[in-house]
Amino acid sequence: MKWKASKISSMRTWGLLLVLVGMGLMVFGTAGILLFGQVGKIIAAVFMVFGLIGCFVSMGVYFWVGMLSTSAPVIDCPECGKRTKMLGETDRCMYCHTILTLNPTQATEGTTQADAQTPLETL
Ligand SMILES: [Zn+2]
Repeated sequence: MKWKASKISSMRTWGLLLVLVGMGLMVFGTAGILLFGQVGKIIAAVFMVFGLIGCFVSMGVYFWVGMLSTSAPVIDCPECGKRTKMLGETDRCMYCHTILTLNPTQATEGTTQADAQTPLETL
């Protein structure tokens, strides 16, 4: 699986999308009452339930990402010098999207013994 952004940012994006989809469904359902009257109320109720589920799922995603990001190691990106968080062994920088890895066998640069403990860069 390829990540265009870092794992934390892409999960936040998914969380945000779910909130928007959930709210969109609720708005759409409410519009159903105006358009279809009595039948629209049933449609509205169904959409409201799905919208609420979407909002709750995204809240769960945000909570999960928050838990993950507090335990993720903070490192200095060798490419742009900014502080970023890494999830797992390989992740992208949150700012310049450079792929970073903690696994020396996957790195293409800086694979000397002295650099073995610092995040390495693969392109
Ligand atoms: Zn960077």
